[in-house]
Amino acid sequence: MTGNKSSKKKELIAKDNFTEWYDNVLLEAKVADDRYPVKGFTVYTGWGMSIARRIIGMLEERLDNTDHDPMQFPVVIPQSSFQKEEDHIAGFSGEVFWITHAGENELENKLVLRPTSETAIYPMFKLWMRSHQDFPIRMQQTCNVYRYETKATRPLYRGREFLWNEGHTAHATYEDAEEQIKIALRIYSEVYDALGLSYIMLKRPVFDKFAGADYSVAFDTWNPDGKVNQIGTVHQLGYNFGEAFEQTFEDENGEQATAANTCYGMGFGRTLAATIAHHGDNNGLVLPPKVAPKQVVIVPILFRGKEEIAVGYAKELEAKLKEAGIRVVLDSDNRTSPGDKYYKWEMYGVPLRLEVGPREAQNKNATLVRRDNFEKVQVDEEKLVEKVNELFEAIFENLKAKDKAKLDSLVKDAYDMDQLEAYMEARLIVKVNWCGDAECAMNIKDQVSGEIRGTRWDVEEEPTGSCVFCKDEAKYVAYVSRTY
Ligand SMILES: [Zn+2]
Repeated sequence: MTGNKSSKKKELIAKDNFTEWYDNVLLEAKVADDRYPVKGFTVYTGWGMSIARRIIGMLEERLDNTDHDPMQFPVVIPQSSFQKEEDHIAGFSGEVFWITHAGENELENKLVLRPTSETAIYPMFKLWMRSHQDFPIRMQQTCNVYRYETKATRPLYRGREFLWNEGHTAHATYEDAEEQIKIALRIYSEVYDALGLSYIMLKRPVFDKFAGADYSVAFDTWNPDGKVNQIGTVHQLGYNFGEAFEQTFEDENGEQATAANTCYGMGFGRTLAATIAHHGDNNGLVLPPKVAPKQVVIVPILFRGKEEIAVGYAKELEAKLKEAGIRVVLDSDNRTSPGDKYYKWEMYGVPLRLEVGPREAQNKNATLVRRDNFEKVQVDEEKLVEKVNELFEAIFENLKAKDKAKLDSLVKDAYDMDQLEAYMEARLIVKVNWCGDAECAMNIKDQVSGEIRGTRWDVEEEPTGSCVFCKDEAKYVAYVSRTY
């Protein structure tokens, strides 16, 4: 009975068929429900929101530890503020939701539902800075933002409302803002690392930077469908918003100076989508233990007449694990078979399953089954907690290593357009030599349906030939891929 790997009661969808697999997992594992009757708006359901909250917690803890004040800004931005920074409005005006009426009345100063909060926050920063002693100002908020996306929406990847955390800072000097960029990149890296997600840190090309930024650095991660998924961005805003919003202060010499800003955002939908898409398998989710809402599921193996022995022992083990701070669920529902339970909790991605029957109760041991590779190990009761923690670590390391190997296998070099096109067709992430011209980037996009995503931020890469498109001297090694 304990030999069953899983019940095949329901038809499982192979992950090779990613789109269908993903939609099925979101519903079956209660991650999200996209049937909300407004297009592009998705409900996070119980299991998905529980994972998301843990990811949010991991980020917020790190933001707290680096002196970001938690804040909550209003969701509405007056039109007059929204239009202050020219590039910003040019970049966002096509996709904002407007509030034009209140009751029967037309609003004189129309309101924007925040698509991002620079124009909500910097007018307040202006009020909070008087002298150089007021710096740095660092705030963060977890909130929803709204963008009228015109591309096809996809639950968690691209919605018209999305859940994120945004950080905003103001500094007395540009150099201080540069230091803040490093801190933000480190914090974001730590969160993705803790989720076992591999990524490429890219400085976006000028034509693809955040609207109103001096430059933008993004975390791009792979996706099974061959499109890269941008899971976080960090922006050096320089003095652009300082000037537009008159963020001025009296510097050390008593002169009026303008503040420099940085801002950064981590999309939780996309980060959650990446966690699901990277680690999941044909049986459903495979969760890193740190973010699994339940880390161990105990399944009692019931034999007629001996039910109470197994359930009684299962309860003892449950108490023991709980006491050790492990999130555990005992599935003793007698309406479902062990096979059905295996199927369910495998779909939910619970890292470890603990099987106990009357024999285990008698021998004071139990069988642990890993979700990531289905390996089984028998453990004595007194070693249980220790073994569970050891396996959590092993599962995490395995997921992380597999993820890294996958990313490495997807990155290829191309030296001519034919090669680039072939790799794009194969949905790979391709390194090319690039002259740096926006026109070449546009031509590449037209020809191979892949975009120049940027150049490595964390690693210096020297071009090794001429521009893949125009054959002029290359200045950069650029990464090309399809994207969400
Ligand atoms: Zn070129």
